[in-house]
Amino acid sequence: MFTLPPMDTASTGAYDDVRTATRALATEAVHAGRDDLARQGLHAPPIDLSTTYPSYDSRAEAARIDAFATDGADPVGPPVYGRLGNPTVARFETALARLEGTESAVAFASGMAALSAVLLARSAMGLRHVVAVRPLYGCSDHLLTAGLLGTEVTWTDPAGIAEALRPDTGLVMVESPANPTLAELDLRALAHACGSVPLLADNTFATPVLQRPAEQGARLVLHSATKYLGGHGDVLAGVVACDEEFAGRLRQIRFATGGVLHPLAGYLLLRGLSTLPVRVRAASANAAELVRRLAADPRVARVRYPRLGGAMIAFEVHGDPHEVISRVRLVTPAVSLGSVDTLIQHPASISHRIVDADDRRGAGVSDRLLRLSVGLEDVDDLWADLDQALGAPRERRVTALQEAVR
Ligand SMILES: *Cc1c(COP(=O)(O)O)cnc(C)c1O
Repeated sequence: MFTLPPMDTASTGAYDDVRTATRALATEAVHAGRDDLARQGLHAPPIDLSTTYPSYDSRAEAARIDAFATDGADPVGPPVYGRLGNPTVARFETALARLEGTESAVAFASGMAALSAVLLARSAMGLRHVVAVRPLYGCSDHLLTAGLLGTEVTWTDPAGIAEALRPDTGLVMVESPANPTLAELDLRALAHACGSVPLLADNTFATPVLQRPAEQGARLVLHSATKYLGGHGDVLAGVVACDEEFAGRLRQIRFATGGVLHPLAGYLLLRGLSTLPVRVRAASANAAELVRRLAADPRVARVRYPRLGGAMIAFEVHGDPHEVISRVRLVTPAVSLGSVDTLIQHPASISHRIVDADDRRGAGVSDRLLRLSVGLEDVDDLWADLDQALGAPRERRVTALQEAVR
């Protein structure tokens, strides 16, 4: 039996003695959250599946729970109960915070659970109003528009943020690059316009490899860790990277509402982070080449690709986008993104279906738009599949039509 690492060595935001501020991202990706392992005689991180932890000192437990109730800091010493914190999940949180350049990070059962916790944390302070810029991920849009958590949203364009702020505004929410249009925002300018209101940037598409929103003034950086951070299509998770004060509030919400991440998911996410820089760069190189070929293709009406780069492509076809989806063979026709394999989906039918059609179109999500999440396959194989899925070359189709008319 091995001894489980004490919470303080693996905990988020603990700037312990082994922390070195100068390590490069690629180094952090494989070492952060693992700094104590060698000292413990371990190489792979242990998976702690305990839901509860024995303690013969209930006075100490009382003090630890009182401290958590005060500021939400990770309890010092051995873990108490699975909903309060888990050492394996804490390793992932530590690593993600290091990659995003924040003090702390708090993991949740999904990206939506993470966003819900942020909204609840602000509402609980009487700050129920949210200012947001479209497009957002479809379910984030829906959560805000429907006011499911008792929040009220004002949708605005980036230039209108300062005017949209109210005394009860608790959050400004944006995505850049946005899902699914890949629209990009100037986060630094937005953070400035927010004044003292926290800016939440959903960084799911860029990942910390391409963009670290906290460096540009975003107080909260949200990820659907289901996507690139996990990276293999087998983990559902969310995480918020932020300062320790906000992290404490989020841990308290997580404890009280129960949207915790399973330790096995925490393990897989930590493993996913170690290859994140390599995966993102390789998939981005594939994407850039596919963008070049799509943009030159007469069957494609429009291609959107972020200036930032990345492995997501949005494009519109002259033909029927549903036909393209029905014809792919190597590429998987499925929602979600950020996996090692390439996925394609039709946002108006799936990821953004829950958004009102006029709002969706107003945000630039046309009914012809297809969203491609480029994976790590050989780029020529990917192109061969897309090429046949796009159908007959346009000129030839026109000729055939002309012949039929004759
Ligand atoms: C998928 C996604 C979410 C929601 O995350 P889940 O893990 O599915 O709950 C939020 N934001 C963006 C940008 C996403 O792509």
